[in-house]
Amino acid sequence: MRIRLPYLGLLTNTLWLVVFFIGFTTAQAQSASENDGITRHPLEVEALAQPRAVLDKLPALLTAALQRDDYVELSLLYLAKSNACRVIADWDCQMQAAWQASQTAIHANRPLLQIRGLISQGRGQMAIQAYSSAEKTMGEAERLLALHPSKPLAADVMLAYSSLSFSLNKAELSADYAKRGLAMLGTLPAPSVRIRLLRNQARALSQLHRQSEAMALLNGALALSDAVSDPKLSAELYIEEARIANEQGDIETQVISGRKIVEMGDRLNNAQLSGLGHEVLGQAAISTGDWRTGEDHFKKAQALFRSLELTRDERRTLRLLLNSLLARDSNITELKTQSRRLIELEKLLEIDDRKLVADSLNSQLEYAQQKFDMQKLKNNAELSKQREQIAVASQRNTYIIAFLGIILLMVLGALSVIQRQNSQKLQKAHKQLINSESRMRAIADNIPAFIAHIGTDSRVKFANAYIGKNYQRDPQSLVGMSVRELRGESTTDLLEPYIKSVLNGQRQRFEIDETIDGKTHYFQSNYVPEIGADNSVQGFYALTFDITALKDSQKQLELLSRTDSLTGVANRRHFEEALTGALARGRRDNHDCALLCLDIDHFKLINDRHGHPVGDAVIVELSKRVQSCIREVDLLARLGGDEFVILMENTAPGSAEAVCEKIIAAMKQPFTLNDKYLEVTVSAGLAYSRPTSTGEDLFRQADQALYRAKNEGRNRFSAAIA
Ligand code: GH3
Ligand code: MG
Repeated sequence: MRIRLPYLGLLTNTLWLVVFFIGFTTAQAQSASENDGITRHPLEVEALAQPRAVLDKLPALLTAALQRDDYVELSLLYLAKSNACRVIADWDCQMQAAWQASQTAIHANRPLLQIRGLISQGRGQMAIQAYSSAEKTMGEAERLLALHPSKPLAADVMLAYSSLSFSLNKAELSADYAKRGLAMLGTLPAPSVRIRLLRNQARALSQLHRQSEAMALLNGALALSDAVSDPKLSAELYIEEARIANEQGDIETQVISGRKIVEMGDRLNNAQLSGLGHEVLGQAAISTGDWRTGEDHFKKAQALFRSLELTRDERRTLRLLLNSLLARDSNITELKTQSRRLIELEKLLEIDDRKLVADSLNSQLEYAQQKFDMQKLKNNAELSKQREQIAVASQRNTYIIAFLGIILLMVLGALSVIQRQNSQKLQKAHKQLINSESRMRAIADNIPAFIAHIGTDSRVKFANAYIGKNYQRDPQSLVGMSVRELRGESTTDLLEPYIKSVLNGQRQRFEIDETIDGKTHYFQSNYVPEIGADNSVQGFYALTFDITALKDSQKQLELLSRTDSLTGVANRRHFEEALTGALARGRRDNHDCALLCLDIDHFKLINDRHGHPVGDAVIVELSKRVQSCIREVDLLARLGGDEFVILMENTAPGSAEAVCEKIIAAMKQPFTLNDKYLEVTVSAGLAYSRPTSTGEDLFRQADQALYRAKNEGRNRFSAAIA
């Protein structure tokens, strides 16, 4: 709980305030029981009635307690001193003693005593209008109370706030604090605090023009006041009662209150109190029109105040008196005398007021200074809070940066590991690639074929060692050469359509022949398009084999397949092909063909007599002799065993008989074989083709003619009948 205290102006010159702070010069020592559970030194109670006597006794007692190191006693004695100083309105003394009470309480480890010291100190600060300090002190008391709860002390704090609020003209707040203080007390007797709380509440309500409520509360307080021996408090209550009664026009109550105040003043030998009582009674009498009684009371009050040099009280009473004197047209001498005294008092009070204004200004300055100090403190606190926040934020940022740094390092570490792994993989892949490339190159280089990679510009991108060897150059030096530069004009002309097609994405397989150093070379090529990732043709791979040897073998085989192995002349297959072709040509060119069938006479006997090899040798010798009897363009073929044919193209009928005779004659010379002389004869059948003749027709005719020659005695020829 905190109350904000605006600056308060000059103290109001109300009656109750005068009494509230006056000292009582006489009182009798009384013992009072607050029944609130709080330990008080007897001198503290005594101080209410005999403050100066108490102040006289205290130094010796304080010294003794100090020597005993009795801090509890010290604290209690300082509280008594503070109370005594309060009664005599020595605020510096009150604050100093209260501060010492709380300090010694700390030593004694008695928080409740410390709180009481703080409350008393706060009251003193309020009295000198050091509101900011008072608020701080009360705040500290409240803080300690939260740790060490005490109902009467909490109520005491409420009382202080209530008084403070009233000083600041905040009647409603003052009543509220008083009400809260009373609620805190609950059923606890604590009459002193209770009476003061009731009085404060009544005073505030009266200011709020709630007179009857105020009066009821005040009566309650008055009823309780008999139980406590606090003359100052009692007098305050009666003065308050009279004030309310005056406002209500209740003369009877005013008179009763006034008499009680006078009686109390007289009993306590307190001239100021007596004066106040007479002032109340005077006002009551004037209200009833009894000016004589009223003026008497005013004069008594004035005299009492004057004896105590209570200038303000005297001036207030003198004004009331002059008012009455003027109202009833009293004698001029008395008016003059009283007026002169009033002027005197005004002069005195002017000086006093100036002093008060100065004090007030000092208070204002002090308050302003405090406000400034407070603001400075707040600013410092704010600054250090901001610094702390910045430090926390900076530390947090440092942590975040450190954390992020660690994460970054971890990520970098992981990346480095991954990179290393990737790099290793890459190196491995690269190595594998190199290996694979060199393997591929090794393979490519060792394949007996021309392997090349050609770009879309028909230039060599790769050539294997075989190509290099063929051109007697380093294969690397061929890279960049165009196909035309490499293969020559004529060959490139042959290759061009294939290159065009393969660069269109179509595989090519073809053979070409080339004359190199006078010899025909055959090449078989495979062109495979190189397709890129975007499906476009990037070039092509050319794989070319030199198939010359193969071609030669093929030719040889071909030859063998059409040749009689024993004699080397054409075989039946060759003859049949040749016969068909010859007849076709004869028909086309309109010329005749002659076919002669030859068969060795009684060859079985030769085999039988001389053995099979001799038979073979006879066949071979015979083919030679026949070959010598015919033209180069004529075809001699061995059909099998001892059977031969001779195909003669462009041979008109009648012109082949001579050949038959020539052959028969050629056999006349004995065959010399293995030192053996053999007589060998042949029979022959001759036929000429006609335009309509088939090969079969012609052969049958020739064969039939041979049959006839055999039948006619052998060693002769027969011609087919046309
Ligand atoms: P002809 O006068 O009637 O022709 O009587 P020939 O004994 O010659 O009878 P033919 O022509 O029918 O007999 C051919 C013989 O030729 C039969 C066979 O044993 C023999 N012969 C077949 N091929 C070969 C061969 O390659 N070498 C040898 N030495 N004898 C062969
Ligand atoms: Mg025969």
